[in-house]
Amino acid sequence: MQLANSDLLKLQNYIDGEWRDGASTIEVRDPANGELLARVADGSAADAEAAVAAASAAFPAWKRKTAGERAAVLKRWHQLIMDNADDLARILTLEQGKPLAEAKGEIIYGASFIEWFAEECRRAYGQTIPTHNPAMRLNTIRQPVGVVTCITPWNFPNAMITRKAAPALAAGCTVVIKPPVETPLSALALCQLAEQAGLPKGTINMVVGSDAPGIGRVLTEDARVAKFTFTGSTAVGKLLMAQCASGVKKMSMELGGNAPFIVFDDADLDTAVSACVATKMRNAGQTCVSTNRIYVHEAVHDQFVEKLRAAVAELKIGHGCDEGVAVGPLIHRRAAERVNDLVQDAIASGAKVELGGDFLSHGENYFAPTLITGVTDEMRIAREEIFGPLAPVQKFTDEDDVIRRANATPYGLAAYVMSENIRRANRVVEALDYGMVACNTGVFSTAVAPFGGCKESGIGREGGVEGMAEFYETKYCCFGA
Ligand code: NAP
Repeated sequence: MQLANSDLLKLQNYIDGEWRDGASTIEVRDPANGELLARVADGSAADAEAAVAAASAAFPAWKRKTAGERAAVLKRWHQLIMDNADDLARILTLEQGKPLAEAKGEIIYGASFIEWFAEECRRAYGQTIPTHNPAMRLNTIRQPVGVVTCITPWNFPNAMITRKAAPALAAGCTVVIKPPVETPLSALALCQLAEQAGLPKGTINMVVGSDAPGIGRVLTEDARVAKFTFTGSTAVGKLLMAQCASGVKKMSMELGGNAPFIVFDDADLDTAVSACVATKMRNAGQTCVSTNRIYVHEAVHDQFVEKLRAAVAELKIGHGCDEGVAVGPLIHRRAAERVNDLVQDAIASGAKVELGGDFLSHGENYFAPTLITGVTDEMRIAREEIFGPLAPVQKFTDEDDVIRRANATPYGLAAYVMSENIRRANRVVEALDYGMVACNTGVFSTAVAPFGGCKESGIGREGGVEGMAEFYETKYCCFGA
């Protein structure tokens, strides 16, 4: 792998300030062509225990540092990531598949959480509470929760780590991270830069390993762990929540979604199409906030479909490192096969493929950006999280009815509303049962705002002041006079 800074390519686990081998290795491959990129140490449950022990030992000293001291280290980490953004983006594209420009966007977005939380930790104010009893004085102080463990997914190999590690470290917690086996190189490169920035040994630890259940048990059940934070599928999230229950751990869960995208007859259709392409085709549709169900008012349905078809047909497909590519491969063959199954199920139930609809010859993990009409709420494509470049369109006629249909899912992560009518936009945004609603845009996530879902899409928020609060314990202090 050609990098300007070859130190970024780390192949061992990072525990207690040391780079450690595993008993064996895991192969990391380019999803675009199957090429072997690297072999990374295969960490074990015992390594996870060592990492938790290191984080626990490092916690008292890190907690005692002033917010300003912690912020200074985090700002150095942020700057090092920005300085190495091109290399980090290249690593990310090679192991994950997204186009280079998107990968660079993720690196900058990921780094922005470190900068923002470095600033925010200086404002961890408590309260002085007007007393209920003249003989008593009441106040609150905010203290770091303790050792935080994190499990992250492959679709955002950089940012899903910084969204957790940055607020935790800023608050004074120490962390242990288990990144996914598909994309360990981006994760380990982040650790290398954290070490270079001066994070003391044991404050940040990383264990990559093929035994996710074994490592996961340690991270959710070890008595020294105060809080567990997870981003991934709802199915795995539920399992890990149950494991956390045994020790009554604090938890944050960023889980799956099934985002509705509603286009009213008063929408600006060009804005709606570009927002739809952004949320649907970015990362080949593999984001938790990807549009999953497109509801278009019958009066503008045909016009919208034509415009969307033209926009999707223009997207260049190929290896993410090639110039101008907008859509890369899916992460695995089984991910592409799942998308194909959803298309076949929709066709069998009466839907029509307007564009795409099949695997591509670019490589075994490629699936064509696809547009399907005549979809109904009963089809699998509407009920399940698609996680692929597949845009299924349905018609609607009535505002109340489309709100009801949009809300009829166990998920509640993100929703999109396209309307130029401010009263309608406000009404619909408020009526949607989702943690996040974007109106007349397809891109909305930022370090300064709370990201997260309700219902089976999760618990807690990442980003914004809410994202910081997740890592503090509020202690109530009562003084007798
Ligand atoms: P996943 O299968 O749930 O895996 C996520 C992480 O969990 C990986 O690190 C995986 O490790 C680990 N894992 C799997 N089984 C485990 C177990 N039994 N015990 C402990 N850890 C276990 O999800 P994915 O397919 O990688 O990611 C896609 C999902 O993430 C989608 O549902 C997407 O919506 C969701 N997501 C949500 C958000 C959000 O903010 N709400 C953001 C991004 C993605 P290995 O890789 O080593 O198996």
